Parts: sequence; C-alpha cells; structure tokens
Amino acid sequence: MALPVEEWRRSAARCWAVLEPALRERLAAAPLGEALRMGCGLFGPEEAALQRLCRRARTGKEPAAARFYREEGNRQFGRCCYRDAVRLYSQAAAHEPPRSPEVALCFANRSAALFHLGHFEVCLEDIARAESHGYPDRLLPKVLLRKAECLLRLGKLQDATDTLTAVENKMTVDGIMTSPIHRMLLKKLSQLKTEIHEGSCPEPAREAHGDIQRESEIWEENGSISGASSSLSLNFSTERGRHLVASQDILPGQNLLKEKAFVSVLCPGEGDSLLLQDSSETVWDTRVTNADLYCHHCLKQLLASIPCCGCSYAKYCSQNCADVAWEQYHRTECPLGALLLTLGVFCHVALRTVLLAGFSEVSRLVEWSRDDSNKDLCNAEAGGEHPSEVLDTRAGRKVIPGCNDNGQYQSSYQAVFNLLPHVEKHSPEHKFLCMLSIVAICKKLQETGLEAAVLNGESSTTGSEQKTCGKTSDELSPELMIMAEAMLRHVLQLQCNAQAITVMQELESGDGAVVNKKPVRLATAFFPVLSLLNHSCSPNISVSFSGTAATVRASQPIPSGQEIFHCYDEAIKMLLKCQIDARNFLSPEHLLMGELEDHLAQVYATLGKWQEAARHLGRSIQLVEMHHGPSSVEMGHELFKLAQILFNGFAVSEALSTIQRAEEILSVHCGPQSTQIQELQEMKTCLLELPRSILQRT
Ligand SMILES: [Zn+2]
Ligand SMILES: [Zn+2]
Repeated sequence: MALPVEEWRRSAARCWAVLEPALRERLAAAPLGEALRMGCGLFGPEEAALQRLCRRARTGKEPAAARFYREEGNRQFGRCCYRDAVRLYSQAAAHEPPRSPEVALCFANRSAALFHLGHFEVCLEDIARAESHGYPDRLLPKVLLRKAECLLRLGKLQDATDTLTAVENKMTVDGIMTSPIHRMLLKKLSQLKTEIHEGSCPEPAREAHGDIQRESEIWEENGSISGASSSLSLNFSTERGRHLVASQDILPGQNLLKEKAFVSVLCPGEGDSLLLQDSSETVWDTRVTNADLYCHHCLKQLLASIPCCGCSYAKYCSQNCADVAWEQYHRTECPLGALLLTLGVFCHVALRTVLLAGFSEVSRLVEWSRDDSNKDLCNAEAGGEHPSEVLDTRAGRKVIPGCNDNGQYQSSYQAVFNLLPHVEKHSPEHKFLCMLSIVAICKKLQETGLEAAVLNGESSTTGSEQKTCGKTSDELSPELMIMAEAMLRHVLQLQCNAQAITVMQELESGDGAVVNKKPVRLATAFFPVLSLLNHSCSPNISVSFSGTAATVRASQPIPSGQEIFHCYDEAIKMLLKCQIDARNFLSPEHLLMGELEDHLAQVYATLGKWQEAARHLGRSIQLVEMHHGPSSVEMGHELFKLAQILFNGFAVSEALSTIQRAEEILSVHCGPQSTQIQELQEMKTCLLELPRSILQRT
C-alpha cells in the first residue's frame, strides 16, 4: 500500500480537523521545513494511537511462529509438496535467531526439499549454510550424504567421493552404527559409492540462467543524459517542464533508455493486510506475499531466501544482497519495520532515499533549496510565470533543473531532489498526513538512537551537544530536521513521480504447472531519468523491468522532434487499453464497461487521486443503477465505495450526501448492525466534527 493504513489516515484527519483555523492556515502556507517544526508538537498526542497500529505489523522474530512454520513445512514435505515446504522452511528460518542451531535446522530441512525439486546448486548452498550455522553434529551424516548425492547429480565425481569419505569417517568415529537410521544411511552410502564407481551420473540438472541480455544491440549513449540513447534530447519549457524529445527518427522496438532505480522499495503486495492483522490473532498465515517471493534488495525472484538477522520481514536472494542492504540502509530500517509497514511504501521510499543519498548530500541540497536565489530554479516548472529558459546568471548559460555543473542530467540524488513535489497541488490535509508520518519516523530514529547511523556519524559531535543542551522530546535535532524536510519533499514527489516496478507473476495450478500470468506491482521506485517523460494515456514507448533496472523501447515510430510519452501507471495503462478494446464490441451501457470504470477508480484511489477515482466510480454507479436499480444492494456497495473515496478526498458535502444514500440502501439489505453501516456512521461523525470553515469551503 502506497499510503499509510486507513486508521492512521483517519487519526491524522481528525487531528487536522480540530486544529485552530489560524494554525491550519499557517501550516498550509508554510514552507516544508517550517511546517515540520510546527508538526513536531502536534504529533505527540497522536503517538500512542500510531504505536497501537504498529503492534499489528509483525516484523519481529517470534519463536512460536518459527515452530508453526517448521511444522507446516514438515507437513507439506510429507505430502511431497516440496515448493510449499521450501517456502514454509524459509518462513521458519526468518523467525529463528541468526546463526543458531535452530536456523541451521531450517536450512537443512529446506535443502532436502530443494533436492527433491532438482535445485542441486541451491541445495548445496543450504547445506553449507546449515553446516556453518552450527547444525547438530549427530545429524550431520544425513546432510552430508545429501551433499554427496547433489555433487554426484552435478557431475562432480571427485567432490562427491571426498564427501562420502568424510561421512564414512564421521560414522566410524561416532561409533553407533546399529540404529535403523544409521543402517539406512549406510545403505545409501554404499549405493552412492556404486553409482560413482560406475560413473553413472544423470544429466546434470541445468538451473535457469535465462537472463543473459542481448547486449550486442546497437547502443550509442547520450552525452548529457545518463543511460539514454543518443537519439533523445532533453528540452525545457514552462508549459511542458522538462521533457525528452526525439532528436532523430526512431523506429519501433528501438532501445531508448536503460536506467537503474535510484531507490526502490518492495511493496508487501496483495497480502499486505496479512502483515497487519490484529495482534490478538495467534494463528499464523501460510499464504505467500510479495515479501516472501522477491529479494528485498535486488527484486530477484526468491527460491531459498536468506533472512535478515534482525527481523522476520526482510528476505534476500543471497548473503551479498543481505550484506549490501544492511550496509546501505537496512541497518537503520530494520528496527523501524512495523512503523514503515504501517506508514506505507511512499514513506519507506522517502526514508531509503535519504539513507542512500547520505547526510552531506541531503543537507547540501536542502540548504540549496532554502536559498531564495534558487527558488526560481526549484519552481521553474511549477508555475507559468517564469521565463521559458532558466538562466544561471553566474555562468551566463542555460541550466535545466537537476543537471549538474557540466549540464549533464544524471541518475543522481540531485536529479531526484529536483523532481517536482507539486507542493501547491496537494491538499493541506494530505500534506499534514505526510508531515505527521515523517515526524513519526524521525522521532523513532531519535528514540532508538539510530540518529547517528542516519547521519553517517558525520555530525555525531553536534548531535550529542544538542542532547545535552536540553532538547525536549517534542523536538528533533537540526540534522534530523534536514533529513525530515528532504523526506517530506520525497513523499510529496512520489504522488506524481513514483514509478511502479511491475513483473508478470506466474500463477500456478495445484501441480506446479504455470497456468496464467498476471502483472503485479513489485516495488515503488524513483527513476530520475525515466521521470523526465511526461505522462500520456497513449504513450509511444513501453517500459520493461529486470530487477531494479528499467528498459524503455519505442512502441511505435517516433519522428524527429516529437515528445516521448510514458503512461505512469501500469494498471491504468492496461485498463485504458481494455476500455478502448471493449468499446469495439460492447455497448457503452454494458455492465462490463462499468466494471472497468470501477477498477480504474480503485487504482486511482490507491494512488491517492481521489477526484479521478470519484469520476470513474460515478460512471460505474450510473451503469449499476441502470442494471440493478437505484435501491439494489449492488448500488449500496458502489455508493459505499464512493463515500470512502469522497471521505478520503475531503469532499465533505458530497461525502455526507453519499453516506446518507448508501446508509439508506445498505440498512435495508444488510441491517443496521452491519460493518459497512458502522463504518459509514464513523465517517459521518468524523466529517461532522470538522469545523465550519472546512464545511463551507466544500
Ligand atoms: Zn538479491
Ligand atoms: Zn531486518
């Protein structure tokens, strides 16, 4: 989920509603840093509520969960459902203490399932992990025999022989050769020895290495835009802002841009509600989410994941990814796991962005943006009153925002920082929610002593001085205020500049065969170069992703001089395409057309674009009314959805009248005690508590 959880959004809305009107106005008009300073004091009373919500997000290591997942894993293993067993043992490992015999046991169990799936290389890795994490000595022969068998299958005869010798020695030393399990092992041993002797090794199983890209493609890189083809140029105008234009004729399929995300954060995915279930719930869930399926650092699909040593949430494809993530950002994020899940992916991206950029770079740009003489440069694209070319008077040449001193636009923090936050386009309520959320993160960093890590230890001395000179708990250190200001800017930027990294996820039938594919949103990212492309619902390029890298190709011929357009939302893109296709064979009144509008509304709602969402839902409601009647239960459900969207968008009077209509219909069909009715009443109460000034405004 991009935005914070519903309950926190409502808390923030209530908090905003009861503020003095004068304070509200000052908050709405203040620059980001100023607003944050005011926000620190307002967060205090909300803190407890947020902490309660965070308790639902379970990101810690829990022994009970480890036991549960291991037993479930054993059960699936027993039923020969090895894929499920691998996933469950991975879940178990994530809950065990790091480098312990318990986690070693999980890896050993998982290696057995991997062996059955024919993933011999990965099986060997897990065995090595089990050995190095203190797998119990007396159980070792069994695992070593599996190792020998793997090596044999991979055609490594000498290594297999060596391992068998080691097992034999081990069993002789241990002495006890009489138990049934040892007799079984001995039988296996001699069987393997015969296989080696006969040199009969089955065809080594090939592991998939299908990702080797055709790098031979003709590619001439642009001198001034990193990662872009030389057939593009960067232009600037007040109406269009920065944009990319074809500097020569472009053919369909031509490669236009390759860019690695500056930052990306895995979205917990469809199952994210699982991570946020009530803490009184003791039953663990075995359903899988994105968080279990993809590396939290490089987004590679996971087979046998490496858990984070501090939490049960972060999982990686390799020790290398785990180490790099820890070094670059997870060291700081790990203790904040539950808070970040509660506040949503946009806040998480904002935090990771400043962690990756480092304090000195962040503070350099924040200071630069506070300097009045740079205001024009910062806001050059925001309004229409600025000159069409931005002149850097010192050098006397044109400077496009985000470019470095050499006029190059690179995929850098400077470029990210210069993406437009469109501060003026966000509602004051939304800015307030984002601000409280960022304050919550910074407070937590300060409390848990992570501040120094965030600031890279660079200003640890000034930080400690601050602490000694009587900083109250309501205040943040000046350094954290700088980080907070940058984070708030990034959260606001994400509303327009977030790029979804999507993949086609394979849906499996029960027997593991792929039956279908569907696109899933894997991560939310900043791509500063890709962000130069303006949005159009009929784009002339297509974007594909591999890990955290995006590749842009022309989807149609683009004549020289034409602007390059991107459609920002994959889901919207697909739905709009469906809509165009559907118009060819469905009447405008067809119920399916309504369903498409309904889906579009949902997508816009998840992006926080309430007006767009309400517009699409309105059309869906017309069709539902036409087909099911004005007092049908279907109509009630649609009005309920509309009420939520209007509520979130602070369209007060419209929300109130919609709540009224929904309530009338749903109380007939579902009774006055239904959860929907109760939720409607809660929204109504909240709206009616709003001060008159807001009510009159809408
Ligand atoms: Zn990875
Ligand atoms: Zn962690």
